[in-house]
Amino acid sequence: MFRLVNVEGRPALEHGGGFYDVARLADDDSLATATACLARFEELHELAGRCDGAEPDGRIDEVVLGPPVPDARQVFGIGLNYKSHAEESGMELPPAPLTFTKFPSCLAGPTADVPLSGAVVDYEAELVVVIGRTCRDVREESAWEVVAGVTAGQDISDREVQLTGSPPQFCLGKSFGAYGPTGPAVVSIDSFENPDDITLRCEVWGEVVQESSTAQLIFGVPKLVSYLSSICTLSPGDLIFTGTPDGVGMGRGRFLSPGDEIVTTVEGVGELRNRCIGAQGGTH
Ligand code: ZN
Repeated sequence: MFRLVNVEGRPALEHGGGFYDVARLADDDSLATATACLARFEELHELAGRCDGAEPDGRIDEVVLGPPVPDARQVFGIGLNYKSHAEESGMELPPAPLTFTKFPSCLAGPTADVPLSGAVVDYEAELVVVIGRTCRDVREESAWEVVAGVTAGQDISDREVQLTGSPPQFCLGKSFGAYGPTGPAVVSIDSFENPDDITLRCEVWGEVVQESSTAQLIFGVPKLVSYLSSICTLSPGDLIFTGTPDGVGMGRGRFLSPGDEIVTTVEGVGELRNRCIGAQGGTH
């Protein structure tokens, strides 16, 4: 098992309260980026086993973590992938995974502040899949074999931008700076009893607003990996935001304001805590 984190732009393994720089631990400078580590994720299991006998580079609770995969090449998002959320959105269930992109420039760390782009900005707690192999046409039965691990994500969405026009377009409204908090770690699949049944939760305004399990996904992780890889070549470090359950602000008629804190929890992964702050040069 391993937990891969980002300490000041360097991939590190989290172990027993400490962190261990991967390139230093392996004595291999080619492991100085997250995507390089994820491309060799089998070795991360072995390296994690070495942590006990090694000196940590520091304590995990004394550093500010960055997004665990800051150099992702492709970041996919899946819309309306929980029946309960499709219903609250008043939209029909998609016949195939409804796919959009979050541009990688929106990725942010697990405790990053989120500058709001307007008055209609929403939260979406999600499980994020992290690819570990270059692959194409992956079959559902072997899809988990190309996955290095999973992490927690927030698919923060400016609903005004997202839903402008007919048909609307999702990419830009979900790609403002810091609209993709992820982390705190990429956690290996063998950490989970059943990787197709991982619970996730979101708290805002001091209440639990979203709570579900990936067992409720319309298109589960194997189907998503198979479908996306039938069209795009997937690469180590590619991220798939798998969709959000019901309970978003749009369904409640309430949106994020400066000062709100979004707490996103994925079982076995950990917690994101992102504070909303005022707009920075927004124009709409
Ligand atoms: Zn989403």
